Amino acid sequence: MMKVGITGGIGSGKSTVCRLFRERGIPVYDSDAEAKRLMQEDAALRQRIAARFGAETYRDGRLDRARLAERVFGDAEELSALNALVHPAVMADFARWSDSQQAPYVVLESAILFEAGLEHAVQRTVAVLAPEALRIERTCRRDGTDAEAVRRRIAAQMDDDTRSRRADVSIVNIFEEDLAPAVAELDRRFRYEAAHA
Ligand code: ADP
Repeated sequence: MMKVGITGGIGSGKSTVCRLFRERGIPVYDSDAEAKRLMQEDAALRQRIAARFGAETYRDGRLDRARLAERVFGDAEELSALNALVHPAVMADFARWSDSQQAPYVVLESAILFEAGLEHAVQRTVAVLAPEALRIERTCRRDGTDAEAVRRRIAAQMDDDTRSRRADVSIVNIFEEDLAPAVAELDRRFRYEAAHA
């Protein structure tokens, strides 16, 4: 099964692009959402997290997300310890999930595809890009947050230049009416490449 990784910074339109692939019949694995699910449901992962971060990380069997976030927030060492536990579990789950799909190819959606080294789990990579001012405007409108908070999040993420250099293909998402045709063209190309691999 050919696997395509799609990434993009906050407000770039990554989720919108992935929705358009879904609408074209391509299964999309949302690694953020699945990571959250696995931290709650995967017994082996729960055990590892509890062993590293304390049994109280799970309260009445539920992950105390706020407590864990506080532990890793702004602490690079703790955050990378958590990622070292979660990422392999997500990749294993993604591999299992991919094998069970009946489709021309599948998409892995991740905000940190390159940062987390998940690019090695896919054969093609797509970066969704947009000018910073537009990313800020979209995110503020979507989340109701203030521009300064979005700016800080953008500053903490990989920059678009690096993203586009590392990706096989870039989608520049500015005008709404251009997005569906851009996804359609990429989908055609990936279907062709998957069939001729
Ligand atoms: P990301 O997942 O990269 O953070 P989203 O796909 O959620 O970004 O897009 C952020 C917001 O901007 C959403 O509300 C989305 O509907 C909107 N949006 C995305 N692309 C466009 C576009 N080309 N034109 C107008 N609005 C857009």
